[in-house]
Amino acid sequence: MKDRSDNYTILELGSFENLSMKDYNGLGGKYFLASELGLTGCEVSLNRLPAGQGMPFVHAHKQNEELYIITKGMGTFFIDGSEFPVQEGSIIRIAPGGERSWKADDQDLYFVCIQAKEGSLTQATKQDGILLSTKTSWMNQL
Ligand code: ZN
Repeated sequence: MKDRSDNYTILELGSFENLSMKDYNGLGGKYFLASELGLTGCEVSLNRLPAGQGMPFVHAHKQNEELYIITKGMGTFFIDGSEFPVQEGSIIRIAPGGERSWKADDQDLYFVCIQAKEGSLTQATKQDGILLSTKTSWMNQL
């Protein structure tokens, strides 16, 4: 289900366990969001890799850094020849040239991957945020 207006898009995917029904180039459990949501500054994928399964290739990028946020399960990441365990709460930033691959260990591995052009973030929350006087239903209206 998708809800869209000029300033937002909401996509309701349901449980991340359903990600196993998504497919990308034969890689089950991988779902890209940029085109679905109209993202223009980053690509985001939601991932569920079945227990015991590993990516069949190593890849790098030309311009984009990637941030992997492990949200559930346990697995192993390979980066530039090193392998190390990951689990819920592991957060991994990889520069474009980093050679990477990963596998799920004895549990399904759930993670979010955010991909953005390295060096493109020139201002973050405090410099870019604008505090408004608009109130929501949960704010004291006094
Ligand atoms: Zn990648």
